[in-house]
Amino acid sequence: MRASEIAREADSIHVVTLLQVQNSQVEPMRIAVIGGSTAGLASALRLRQSSHEVSVFERRAGTNTGGFGLLLTPSVRQGLNRLGVHQESMGYSVEQLDIRDAEGRSILCQGLHDTVGIERSELQNALLASLEPGILHQDKSFLGFESDPQGVARAAIFSDGTRVEADLFIGADGVRSRVRSSWTPGPALRPVQSVELVGMYRGDAIPELLNGRFLKYCRTGEGISIGLVPTSTGSVTWYIQCDPRRWPMILSPQQEKLAWLRQEVQQWPDPVAEIILGSELNQTHLWRTTDRDLPSRFHRGNVLLVGDAAHPLLTFTSQGTGSAIEDALAIGDLLDHHVSRTPDPEQLDGIFCEFSRHRIPILRARLQMGRRMQSQFLNPTRRTQQIVPISS
Ligand SMILES: Cc1cc2nc3c(=O)[nH]c(=O)nc-3n(C[C@H](O)[C@H](O)[C@H](O)COP(=O)(O)OP(=O)(O)OC[C@H]3O[C@@H](n4cnc5c(N)ncnc54)[C@H](O)[C@@H]3O)c2cc1C
Repeated sequence: MRASEIAREADSIHVVTLLQVQNSQVEPMRIAVIGGSTAGLASALRLRQSSHEVSVFERRAGTNTGGFGLLLTPSVRQGLNRLGVHQESMGYSVEQLDIRDAEGRSILCQGLHDTVGIERSELQNALLASLEPGILHQDKSFLGFESDPQGVARAAIFSDGTRVEADLFIGADGVRSRVRSSWTPGPALRPVQSVELVGMYRGDAIPELLNGRFLKYCRTGEGISIGLVPTSTGSVTWYIQCDPRRWPMILSPQQEKLAWLRQEVQQWPDPVAEIILGSELNQTHLWRTTDRDLPSRFHRGNVLLVGDAAHPLLTFTSQGTGSAIEDALAIGDLLDHHVSRTPDPEQLDGIFCEFSRHRIPILRARLQMGRRMQSQFLNPTRRTQQIVPISS
């Protein structure tokens, strides 16, 4: 995300906050959330605040949540506060965004307010720790819905034979959502042209140059940039963002790719080589992101999509996590605002339509921003060279 957008992002949380109704008398609904990552856990936390009966069903079995790291901006932290997630000792404070060219000359240096880099697993664990025990059910892979003749979903079916009845289902099962493909597919996923190689450095001390900085080096015009984000006192998430048409080696088999990487990073200023070569290179991940147009609504009947299942965003904007948390807050607030008893399908439809009306303009702006940043990254011109994509 560009630093200038961090402040603007706060507005969307503010809009959500305005919708909140304190002490509402909501009759609890049975809500089944499918997917137990950011969007699913945040939704469960918010809906439990309104005393709904919530269960979360996650495909993964263990506690290893995967992933590397991300930035929590002030508005995302505000959202986490509203969910009751304690953040005192969470992540690593990132006070400066420092963008440099391939020779190390400054392109942009900007202070960041109340922003932390965090390992994805730490965020997932914090969300989970804030949820009462017994709500998350793991090793539950969603297969499809059982519906009545009116097309209302009555039960979710999982691969181990579990059948879960609920009044409302929330699909929070990520970019390749099965809830979405089986119930309300909408526009198709498209691959994007840029790719990211992501990895994690672990060491006793973060290199001096990185202390409190999100450091990014760009070879503007060459279709490659490298970002380093401190994510704890002993970890740095790094990524190499590149245009594979110009850097096809990034798509080569693992051993060839790593051989290229070892050579390539030597050409970049300190501490790029120190961090990347000091990482467990066999655990890097090649992120091939996707793009998808927004649907006109995020629901059909009593099934609502949230997070990446509803609206994947390009990594250029780093807004996947924040948007998932906002979705959770928005649906909780809207249900509080409108529901005084278990709603009939028509009422739910109205609430979900309002959810889409509220969320789509915000998400459309982010999607378009991501596409613009990607296009500038892939096809830089003199005029656009100062617009630097940042991702984590
Ligand atoms: C393994 C992983 C690593 C990631 N690492 C990073 C990272 O390092 N940096 C970053 O910025 N973003 C990362 N992301 C993306 C980031 O988590 C999301 O963009 C954002 O937080 C929105 O979250 P989400 O809950 O909508 O989707 P996701 O985080 O993708 O979560 C979807 C969840 O649904 C579960 N699921 C999928 N299918 C089913 C099914 N059929 N039944 C039940 N459960 C199902 C998945 O196991 C997953 O836990 C990662 C995502 C994943 C899944």
